[in-house]
Amino acid sequence: MNDAPEIDELVPPDRTLMGPGPSDVHPRVLRSMATPLVGYLDDYCVEVMNDVQDGLRYLFQTDNEHTFAVSGTGSAAMETAFGNLVEPGETVLVPDNGYFGARMGEIAERAGGEVVTVEAPWGEPLDPADVEAAFDEHSPTVFGFVHGETSTGVRQTSVSDLTGIAHENDAYVVADTVASLGGVEFHTDEWDVDAVYSGSQKCLSAPPGASPITFNERAVEKVRTREEPVRSWYLDFEGVWEYWGEERNYHHTGPISTLYALREALRLVSEEGLEGTWDRHERVAGALKEGVEAMGIGLNVADEHWLPTLNPVRVPDGVDDGEVIDRLIEDHGIEIVGGLGALDGEVFRVGCMGHSARPANVTQFMAAFGSVLADGGADVDPEAGAGAAASALDPK
Ligand SMILES: *Cc1c(COP(=O)(O)O)cnc(C)c1O
Repeated sequence: MNDAPEIDELVPPDRTLMGPGPSDVHPRVLRSMATPLVGYLDDYCVEVMNDVQDGLRYLFQTDNEHTFAVSGTGSAAMETAFGNLVEPGETVLVPDNGYFGARMGEIAERAGGEVVTVEAPWGEPLDPADVEAAFDEHSPTVFGFVHGETSTGVRQTSVSDLTGIAHENDAYVVADTVASLGGVEFHTDEWDVDAVYSGSQKCLSAPPGASPITFNERAVEKVRTREEPVRSWYLDFEGVWEYWGEERNYHHTGPISTLYALREALRLVSEEGLEGTWDRHERVAGALKEGVEAMGIGLNVADEHWLPTLNPVRVPDGVDDGEVIDRLIEDHGIEIVGGLGALDGEVFRVGCMGHSARPANVTQFMAAFGSVLADGGADVDPEAGAGAAASALDPK
């Protein structure tokens, strides 16, 4: 027999999560996860699932019947959307202006799609004119875009223009809202998006593991008339809908504690109201933005494409970004991350999502960030940053 390992008691360090996710989890959501399990087909569980679906329809701003939570993180929801909508040989158009657009491409390719891209520089959104040109050139049948690109901190505006172009070309539109849903405005039905997915650990103040997704009737019809079965058994829409739809039959065991958590998170959204949560994210992240601007640093994104939930703060001259990130977590317990791809070493990525989008987090972050930068040799006035953030949060 092998020896039993000695495993210490679980005592996670006290962190303030200001990166691109996960975000701080709301205490009520944490408590919900410590409640007893019921069976995955227990009447109580079915009620929990109904509440989750109602809460998600509100969150997505949709009347879509086919709205549920994928068992897995945001990438599992991404794979559910593309894996079901894309049939082998279909042309799929994805953006190349960020990390998650690229992931869409990888997933669509594994689903058998022929992937083509529409270009924009990292740090800028897609231009509808370029999307139109890409449709003319490639005639894709599925088009994916990222509403809040976490790698660059860019918010894709003009969503209805994009869906309009796709629908004129009889294509289906998939939106990634993992880092934006619940944080900034999104209107699934009004903007006519065919499939939208998100995640729980970013703007929803919940842990990762149950990811929102919605399909409109058009999208469901496409999935139901596929010629070839979906390549993933676990993420096959028809199978999953056996559990989430009318039948409530076993497909796989629902992640019960995680569904409790998502339900509580959605309950919080309902209590605050969607406009309330959008306003809070804008106000709290706005204070962060004013703070870094007052230090003479600023964000690597134009104001009209600013994504309050993920702020790409420029790395000041002469500063080692990795050192700043290490000091923040080691000395202050604050997690932020660096840039990816083309923005590696150029930006810090500072999240302001869900329960992390609170005045106390921004105040704590601004004070720590200013002092770490000044210690690291940056020519910045830390007091100016903290002061500007404080007065933005509490205008006199
Ligand atoms: C985090 C993220 C994902 C992936 O979600 P996981 O939960 O990490 O699987 C996809 N898209 C965007 C925009 C994200 O921010």
